[in-house]
Amino acid sequence: MQSKNHNANLKAVACGLLFLGIRFRYKRLLLSGVTSILETGGMNLSPSLSYVLACPKRYHLEKVQKQKTPAPFASATLGNLVHKRIAYSLRTGNKASLDPFDLPRRLLLQEYEDLSDLCQRAEDSLSYFNDKVLSYLAQFKLHSVEYRLTTSLKLDQDTYNLSGVIDCMIQTPKGLHILDWKTSSVKSSDAQLKFYLVLAYLEWRERELSAEAVSLSTGESQMLTFSPELKDWFKDYLRDMVSALAECERKMPKPGSHCKYCPFAHACELSEAPERVLLDMWTGEVSYLG
Ligand code: SF4
Repeated sequence: MQSKNHNANLKAVACGLLFLGIRFRYKRLLLSGVTSILETGGMNLSPSLSYVLACPKRYHLEKVQKQKTPAPFASATLGNLVHKRIAYSLRTGNKASLDPFDLPRRLLLQEYEDLSDLCQRAEDSLSYFNDKVLSYLAQFKLHSVEYRLTTSLKLDQDTYNLSGVIDCMIQTPKGLHILDWKTSSVKSSDAQLKFYLVLAYLEWRERELSAEAVSLSTGESQMLTFSPELKDWFKDYLRDMVSALAECERKMPKPGSHCKYCPFAHACELSEAPERVLLDMWTGEVSYLG
C-alpha cells in the first residue's frame, strides 16, 4: 500500500497536478450562556461543526487552543478550490476554470486516498458543473452567490446570533431555491439543508423555499422544502449544539468513526482513524503519520 500510494502520488506531482483546501466556511453561533466559549473558539455553527463537537478533545484542540496541524486534508482543500471556481464562474458568467489546481506545499491524505484520483474528481466536478449545471441555472434568475445570511433567534431565554453562507440561490417559479455544491456524496446533507432553510426563512419570512445538495461528482441530488415543522427541528438542533459545547469543556477524548477527519488523529493515542500520510508537493516525500 505504501509503495503504491507513494508512486501514484509522485506521479501526480510529476504530472503537475497541483492540489487543494475546504470551505466549511460559514456559520457563527453566539449564545449568551456560552458566549465566552464561542468567542474564544471563533466558532462556526454548521453541520460540519458536529464533527468537531463529536469529540471534546478535538474541539478543544481545534477551536479553543487553535493548534496547528501538519497540513490540510487534500480532499478538503480541493473541495474548497472547486467551490471558489464555481462561485467565480457564477459571478462572471464564464465557465469554471479547469486549470491545474494551485495547492499548498504539504497535504494530508488518508491511506486509501490517491492525490491523482482526488484531483481528477475535482476536475470532473468542475466539468460536470460547466456541462450540466450551468445550462440548468440559465433558466432561472440568479439570486445570489455565496450569500451570507445572518439572523438572531431567541430560544430558552438566550439569543442566538446565527450566520451562514449559501453557495448559490436562484429564483424559480416555485420560490427561492438554495443550492449547495458537493464534490462527493450528498449523503448526510439533511441537517445542512434544514439549517439553510430555516436561516433563509428567518431572513425573508418566505415559506416558498427549497434547498438542494448537488453532487458534482455523481450527479445525485437531495432536495428538501421548507415547512413550519422545521422550526421545531431547528430549536432542538441548537439545543443539542449547546449541550455538546458544554460537554466539550471536559476536554475528554471520545473516539469513534468521526476520528477519520480529525486533524489531530496522528497524535492521539485513542484515534480510530485510518492511517494517513503527509505529502510534500515540492520534494515528493511521503511520510506516514500513523
Ligand atoms: S482522534 Fe478521535 S479521539 Fe482523538 S482527538 Fe481526534 S476525534 Fe478525538
